[in-house]
Amino acid sequence: MTNDIWAKVLLTLKGALGVNNYSNWIEPLEFAQLADGVAVFHVPTNFIGNYVSQNFGDQIIYQLGQQGEDVQRLQFKVPVSAQVTLKPAPKPTARIVNVDDISGSPLDARFTFDTFVVGKPNELAHAAARRVADGGPVTFNPLFLYGGVGLGKTHLMHAIAHELQRRSPELNVLYLSAEQFMYRFITALRERKMMDFKQLFRSVDVLMVDDVQFIAGKDSTQEEFFHTFNALVDGQKQIIISADRAPGEIKDLEDRIRSRLQCGLVVDLHPTDYELRLGILQSKVDAFSAQYPGLAVAPGVLEFLAHRISTNVRVLEGALTRLFAFASLVGREINLELTQDCLSDVLKASDRKVTVEEIQRKVSEHYNIRLSDMIGPKRVRNYARPRQMAMYLAKQMTSRSLPEIGRRFGGRDHTTVMHGVRKIEELKLLDSQIADDLELLRRALEA
Ligand code: ADP
Ligand code: MG
Repeated sequence: MTNDIWAKVLLTLKGALGVNNYSNWIEPLEFAQLADGVAVFHVPTNFIGNYVSQNFGDQIIYQLGQQGEDVQRLQFKVPVSAQVTLKPAPKPTARIVNVDDISGSPLDARFTFDTFVVGKPNELAHAAARRVADGGPVTFNPLFLYGGVGLGKTHLMHAIAHELQRRSPELNVLYLSAEQFMYRFITALRERKMMDFKQLFRSVDVLMVDDVQFIAGKDSTQEEFFHTFNALVDGQKQIIISADRAPGEIKDLEDRIRSRLQCGLVVDLHPTDYELRLGILQSKVDAFSAQYPGLAVAPGVLEFLAHRISTNVRVLEGALTRLFAFASLVGREINLELTQDCLSDVLKASDRKVTVEEIQRKVSEHYNIRLSDMIGPKRVRNYARPRQMAMYLAKQMTSRSLPEIGRRFGGRDHTTVMHGVRKIEELKLLDSQIADDLELLRRALEA
């Protein structure tokens, strides 16, 4: 990869991540080399490397891919020259490593309650976050939010911070990642400023620690975290914690910390469902439309994306960003064709490999018929219809050709498969039961 390409990537990252994130985290990266799909960057501190990898890794890999670089993994290294200086003091990191400084991680201005789309999978977490953001007496402490990558944990935490700051500007709200907590702690130890450190953390009104799974296994950090935690709880201060899994499932976490974490309210963010993904897409499109006036999204595109991209919301957003950028560049409407052209790699990557056999099994279970009857020669309606449904789903959800599908249905001809697929396409429009069944089956298969 040339420095030119990296420069282009930097430019898009600046747009995608915002100026704050960019100057804090991306600017300090120094591209070193790319070999065997691994892009190596020099960073001033391991902390920055870890943070970037955790928070922006996907984006960076994605943007590199956009520039035609096939990067599978990122690696961050602290050059030896930087390692020997104990105090990493390059400008962009100065504000995070300074223990006297109360500021935590920068809050993303876009992560507010207004921009958070609520659906079944996240309604509980959202309600709990709202409650905490209302201020008032502390009812559950801590609030423990957990869920997989890109499901909105950080978004909700920032939203709480924004809301609290809006309502009560005098409140001392400190938001930081667990790694930052650790980093500050270690720096304080090294610089013999433990008193300051303790005082700083004991003086906040609301403490938010994101991705707390990071301190698991880091004994002294856990210890300090535990003390901070207890001091704040005793002082009736609100604590909000997030992690990628439930407290009970975080390995190498001390039992006493685990049980303390569990004694508040523990809520999880479930993986997104189709409706939530569609809702999020719709709300993002509104935002994009303001940015790209005159760009229309054809009917069906958002539904298609909500169906096809079942991974995290970050991926969903990335896809949309790319779609708008691409469409505005070529001056075309965002329709299905353009979507497929523009996002073929994302679509392929998020394709869960559903097999024809799985489809047959699910469909026969759903209609309560034997697998052998679905595949066998019987032509009665009771078997023929589910068989056609399965053929239709196989065509839609796998990359098998019609003859290949025919072969898996007891050696049927490809024209039979085509007929079956067409039949279901028709029926889907006429018979809402069939449409519902298809939707249900598809979801079950995608899950
Ligand atoms: P996590 O911290 O759980 O890994 P984030 O909070 O960073 O996930 O969310 C990833 C991206 O998806 C962010 O840009 C966030 O704004 C967006 N996002 C996640 N859930 C929602 C939602 N329910 N509504 C709107 N945007 C969301
Ligand atoms: Mg997060």
